[in-house]
Amino acid sequence: MRFTFVTLFENLVKGYFQDSILKRAIEKKLLSIDYLDPREYSSSKHKKVDDTAVGGGAGMVMNPQPLYDALDSLKKEDEDVHIIFLTPVAKPFRQNDAKRLAKKSHIAFVSGRYEGIDERVIEKYADEVFSIGDYILTGGELASLVICDSVSRNIEGVLGNSDSLSVESFETPLLEAPSFSKPKVYDDTSVPSEYLKGNHSKIRSLKLALSECKTKFFRPEQLLKHTTRKSYEK
Ligand code: SAM
Repeated sequence: MRFTFVTLFENLVKGYFQDSILKRAIEKKLLSIDYLDPREYSSSKHKKVDDTAVGGGAGMVMNPQPLYDALDSLKKEDEDVHIIFLTPVAKPFRQNDAKRLAKKSHIAFVSGRYEGIDERVIEKYADEVFSIGDYILTGGELASLVICDSVSRNIEGVLGNSDSLSVESFETPLLEAPSFSKPKVYDDTSVPSEYLKGNHSKIRSLKLALSECKTKFFRPEQLLKHTTRKSYEK
């Protein structure tokens, strides 16, 4: 899978790939990362990429010309590129999007800065738009990285143990049961005793009960989906 980050600030993105799982995935040639700086496509004398908002309003907006030219050159190079714009006003990114996007061959993330991107660019080039939550960031780079990370771990071979994917939270309506590591007792607190007895069917039932409790506490709307699904299965 190839990821292209369309950004004015590629250094904000680069560091993330210099360690851990995604670094190894790049070394194994499962992922490749490149960058496209709209400023390099600016036709203005001083390589300007933004201007005041037409019709008034605070702050600067990213001009269409550098982005049109940058994205045209990207599409010319690879007509299959799937272009995603990051914007707080879009639908929220979810786990099923991560799984679906992991099947693409090339994704480009377009990061806005300042007050955002001229809407004409989004209208013309976006295959999809995503928000990563109901809050405002200074730019789209972090949001691009969040999506890139989450998509990457769904690409075959990226995670050492792909079994871990199937039991994670958001694979089903239930959140994952609490996890414990060694030692069995730490700071006078033991892991749940049932986990220690080796009876796998009892451990599975306890984990299910704990998953339900956790979901009820943190995400009650998800528990409703789970109970509806259970009653359908009966
Ligand atoms: N003026 C815009 C608004 O109120 O909707 C916010 C612009 S924000 C300061 C600049 C850029 O950061 C956006 O163009 C977008 O690329 C990115 N961004 C900010 N918050 C985001 C979020 N929650 N999800 C995805 N991208 C976000």
